[in-house]
Amino acid sequence: MSEVAAAFRELYGHEPDGVWAAPGRVNLIGEYTDFNEGFVMPLALPHTAVAAVSRRTDGVLRIHSADIGGPVVELRADDLEPLSGAGWAAYPAGVVWALRQAGHEVPGADIHLTSTVPTGAGLSSSAALEVVTGLALRDIFQLPLSMEELASIAQRAENDFVGVPCGIMDQTASACCTEGHVLHLDARDLSRRQIPFDLPAHGLRLLVVDTRVKHALGDGAYAERRAGCEQGARELGVRTLREVPFAQLHSALGRLSSPTVRDYVRHVVSDNERVERVAALLSAGGVRGVGPVLTEGHASLRDDLRVSCAELDLVVSTAVSSGALGARMTGGGFGGSAIVLVEEAGVDPVTKALMTAFEEAGLARPRVFEAVPSQGARRVG
Ligand code: ADP
Ligand code: MG
Repeated sequence: MSEVAAAFRELYGHEPDGVWAAPGRVNLIGEYTDFNEGFVMPLALPHTAVAAVSRRTDGVLRIHSADIGGPVVELRADDLEPLSGAGWAAYPAGVVWALRQAGHEVPGADIHLTSTVPTGAGLSSSAALEVVTGLALRDIFQLPLSMEELASIAQRAENDFVGVPCGIMDQTASACCTEGHVLHLDARDLSRRQIPFDLPAHGLRLLVVDTRVKHALGDGAYAERRAGCEQGARELGVRTLREVPFAQLHSALGRLSSPTVRDYVRHVVSDNERVERVAALLSAGGVRGVGPVLTEGHASLRDDLRVSCAELDLVVSTAVSSGALGARMTGGGFGGSAIVLVEEAGVDPVTKALMTAFEEAGLARPRVFEAVPSQGARRVG
């Protein structure tokens, strides 16, 4: 933290008003469900975006990332234009824009940030950037915003200013997760439940396996899946797929005309049910039972939603065949990361099996680390 403050001082020639941190996240279960007003269950990672920020009152916005380098990006708060292609700076600038759109007075700021959240790995480095910016601005301008409202502002920045049509999960996870818990989020009414998630107490670990690949397919595919889900809801006469109870999935599928839409609906409705099953297992202490549900969720993402890829499938099949309790891709897919639930004693053999499998397939080694459920966004200095 003090390094970020020192770099801020060096860059801008004065002290920051404070230093804030916001984490990346990994999603345990419930994928492509948030924009269908369904359930998700993310946890915050120990990896964070950290920002030193000071207030300005002259309408100037200066933004710098230690990870990008290059000159300070200087913008005028009055001139912020959505979708103007500001590159990485659009994430923090978008938050200023979204705050102002919502009627909050943000007359300018100096921002210097750095992040340990791997980018483009499905771990929400973008949400971490937005939420840390939002929290800092809330505090220094004393804006009357709850963490949940901040998440919504951050989502608006990503949707409307950057132009990425993401749901509410990532920003809410970064803003609202708590240490030692997964967050059960109902994306319809945004009600939240913190569920204790102490895997080491059960002799278990959750691994994140970052494949380090990102296939270009991903961007268009997300919008296409969204459109398919909306079509499914329309054909079923419901507002969103959340309204389709799992018990009625079979009959709902029979009423859909397109095989593709049928597959998407099957994924969304069944993944909502998987979130509820995992919540029940965690609450009842049946943590090992979560493994097969993860693997089942992967099959659904691979076969019905068709958002996986060879590398993610390789992680899951290798992990499961080398003794993991279960595994699935996490995040948007087409590359990025998978998660693996494994006995403590299985961490080394499973990790080794993954390395060997990737090597044999002629792929670069994945990055493997433990997902320790960590604290959401907070002031750190
Ligand atoms: P994800 O959120 O899954 O990591 P995204 O494509 O949504 O992937 O967001 C990644 C983008 O966020 C990067 O391309 C960059 O524009 C921005 N970003 C993330 N971390 C940083 C950082 N430390 N400095 C500057 N920009 C960053
Ligand atoms: Mg993102």
